[in-house]
Amino acid sequence: MDTARDLYPTSLYANTGYGPSFAVLEIGLEDQVAVVEPDHAFWALVRSDALEAALSGVLIRDFQERQESFRQEMENLRYGLKPSAVYFNPTERCNFNCSYCYLPEAMRRDGKTMTAEELGDALTHLRDYFRETLSGGFKPQLIFHGSEPLLAREAVFAGIERFQNDFIFGIQTNATLLDDEAIAFLKDHEVGIGISLDAPTAEAANLTRKNWHGAGAFDQVVRVIDKLASYSAFNVITTVTQKNVHTLPAMVDFYHERGVRTVMFNPVRCTQAGGLQLKPANDVLSDYFCRALDRAYELYAATGQKLVVANFANILAGIVGPTGRRLMCDISPCGGGRCFFAVSAQGDVFPCSEFIGLEEFRGGNLYREDLPAILKSSPFQRVTERKVEAIVPCRGCAIRHFCGAPCPAEINAVSGTMDAPSPYCQFYEEKVRYAFRVIARGLEEAYLWDGWEEETEETFCWV
Ligand code: SF4
Ligand code: SF4
Repeated sequence: MDTARDLYPTSLYANTGYGPSFAVLEIGLEDQVAVVEPDHAFWALVRSDALEAALSGVLIRDFQERQESFRQEMENLRYGLKPSAVYFNPTERCNFNCSYCYLPEAMRRDGKTMTAEELGDALTHLRDYFRETLSGGFKPQLIFHGSEPLLAREAVFAGIERFQNDFIFGIQTNATLLDDEAIAFLKDHEVGIGISLDAPTAEAANLTRKNWHGAGAFDQVVRVIDKLASYSAFNVITTVTQKNVHTLPAMVDFYHERGVRTVMFNPVRCTQAGGLQLKPANDVLSDYFCRALDRAYELYAATGQKLVVANFANILAGIVGPTGRRLMCDISPCGGGRCFFAVSAQGDVFPCSEFIGLEEFRGGNLYREDLPAILKSSPFQRVTERKVEAIVPCRGCAIRHFCGAPCPAEINAVSGTMDAPSPYCQFYEEKVRYAFRVIARGLEEAYLWDGWEEETEETFCWV
């Protein structure tokens, strides 16, 4: 029997009947707008004076022809991926006490550090799990993460040597314990290295990143950057707060001069009170972030040397084609618990590092419980089933599949529910508008990492 839909011709008009619903997005250009079909993340840039014709003709036909492939691509990205990475905290302790840290202070002061044996046991569990779930010799990523993983240096390096055929390793460190011997070991074992620096001067950088006695480590971190800038698997994270937001354009010059190739300018997460207190205002953040992107482009045009701002590049890549993303914060459900998960020094398993220390999001314990069951536990489901369509006002937002309303941990802390928009909503809007302007000018290449056109299954979070 014919369905009601079969009885009627396919509509050639937008926004009525069976026609697609298109939103018109102002992108800050006089002569062009973006037209977006939000459910499928389908979009086109249209000359403002040709909008009427586009909405009743060629654009509709183009959408109808490509609708099914867009639907499948989004479906796979949102629901079809398996975990392929772990954020692994070998210690709860840190030698630093950064003002905005998302981990509880008591843990960082006096917490547990894994022995080499405990770390080896945990990696054995993880290796066995991934051998079952990942096919075709695909190696999972394992990123040693913080607190400060190099406080467990002996155990971490022993784990890297023992399991080098089983994982692609990375380490995220504050760089203060990265001596020449450690750098040589990590490079020899092709370990990805991410470090943190918050400003281009000691005075500003040491305001938020300091040890338990209040001393910063700017000079030491810069020395490490100078040693590592040419290493291909190296990146720097700058956490953006109200204290350093105005330094972002200068930060671009600072990194570019030193030959750094990839940075992230991550707005501070508001999951803990310290981060919330330092949150930059959205309009100020948007302004300086866009100025920093402008500066990165100017330097690239003048020198041919690219500085990729990865958390912008990811949004741009996600617009150009959903599977181009590498970070999984700006899609919903986010990558937490479904593309990767986090293991604490106690062996507790959380959907993402951002949830470590929040007992209600502990899925179980790696040493005592079955990992597949942990990944299906209700704390994990709360995160893996969170959809942007269920959130007001995100459900009516044209860019909901370019933004994803992150981060559930942060939003839960700020709003008391995960079903709320991001505290950085306006900032995400501006990033998407900037990305459409880049596309309108044909400049994607200048902002994206080399090889961005190749599809990848690598997925990360940004904490
Ligand atoms: S957080 Fe804001 S920009 Fe992101 S989807 Fe929700 S309403 Fe849209
Ligand atoms: S940082 Fe937040 S948004 Fe990103 S993957 Fe983790 S939980 Fe999800």
